[in-house]
Amino acid sequence: MLIDSGADLLMYGMGDKSIVEVAKALHNGFNAKLLRRLRQVAFVADRAYVERLSEENTLRLHSFEECVASGKAFGENFKYIEIESNLREQNRTIVEAVGDRYVVVTPPYTTLTEQEIDHSFDLPYMRAPHPRYNGKGDIPAWEMIKNSINIHRGCFGGCSFCTISAHQGKFISSRSEESILREVRRLTEMPYFRGNISDIGGPSANMYRMGGRDTALCAKCRRPSCLHPKPCPNLSRDHSHIIELYRKITAIPGVRHAYIGSGIRYDLFDGTTDYLREVVTRHTSGRLKVAPEHTEDHVLKLMRKPSFEGFIKLKRDFDRICADAGLKYQVIPYFISSHPGCTEQDMAALAAKTRKLGMHLEQVQDLTPTPMTLSSVMFHTGENPYTGERLYVARNQDDKRRQKSYFFEGPAPKFQTRQTQTKRGDKAPVRRKR
Ligand code: SF4
Repeated sequence: MLIDSGADLLMYGMGDKSIVEVAKALHNGFNAKLLRRLRQVAFVADRAYVERLSEENTLRLHSFEECVASGKAFGENFKYIEIESNLREQNRTIVEAVGDRYVVVTPPYTTLTEQEIDHSFDLPYMRAPHPRYNGKGDIPAWEMIKNSINIHRGCFGGCSFCTISAHQGKFISSRSEESILREVRRLTEMPYFRGNISDIGGPSANMYRMGGRDTALCAKCRRPSCLHPKPCPNLSRDHSHIIELYRKITAIPGVRHAYIGSGIRYDLFDGTTDYLREVVTRHTSGRLKVAPEHTEDHVLKLMRKPSFEGFIKLKRDFDRICADAGLKYQVIPYFISSHPGCTEQDMAALAAKTRKLGMHLEQVQDLTPTPMTLSSVMFHTGENPYTGERLYVARNQDDKRRQKSYFFEGPAPKFQTRQTQTKRGDKAPVRRKR
């Protein structure tokens, strides 16, 4: 972006702190020296600038040209960046050569404290679309968020296809109860509010106030996910704060219902069904959305998602809670097709397993590679950069369409006898005659 646009500066991540610091640095006019000293910005520099950076505090990546020539170099760059960006304290400047210039990325600010995130959320926002949209009809994005409350930032799930930890960070920054309740009271005064809060959430609905018990261990940690491959023993999965918060929100005059629209991580449950019971009986409108994403273990591992067994247990608990409470609610699972490593046989297995569970699939999507994710790197290179494992990747529209069709076709489709070769030489699975 910097090279193509010719921009002087790029701010990345959440801008609460950097927007203020950039404004201060620009107060007396453009000053490149001041701007380059800031955290959480990127810019283009010359060789003399980069040579002055201390080796100890600099992470030098493969050049852009090397990445274009070699998928391995590109994958390694991703791995270095992901590991660095998941550290609790990041103090290294990242440098990548592009031609005879260098893209320089300064380290981000640390996770916002409760006081800092409260300050950001307590600013006097209008809670309204920009006036330029007046009289232009409904704005879908606004309709979706206007009655929702964001309670925390960050996500430690580390799903391979998601960029949230790349821009919000792995460590959770939670708002205080007072700040959240103040916002709910303010929402109840809005002319469009009819008593229903559409979402009390965040990147993952139930990570509010969660994190490592021993923060010294977290300070040394290099794991991209606190949940995968197994929940970290140092991770507190206490849901009592969030249950307490939901109860305080629903007690506010003017609030009839407070729903949880954000995705719930069921691998975060602490061995009890207390949180699930609270959500099912008080905070869903009849359809609980969860995202197992696939049924096959080797695909789930590449997605950094838990085993499908966890979803089966969740569905059992959900059905029991509904039966106890006399509710006729449904679990709506989300699935992804064409993730790197996913073959047509895997999609056939997914279709068979979900059919056996009596599930009607409606929330499904074909993978769209999103920049700065592990899934996109695997999609592009056909290789897991952490293990070097070669992967089958459905890249062309025909292969992707066929994978997606398993979500909707009644009987499991059969395969054709042929073996196709993808552009990069990965062998597609053998398919039997239809
Ligand atoms: S030590 Fe555990 S809880 Fe802390 S950051 Fe690492 S994985 Fe997460």
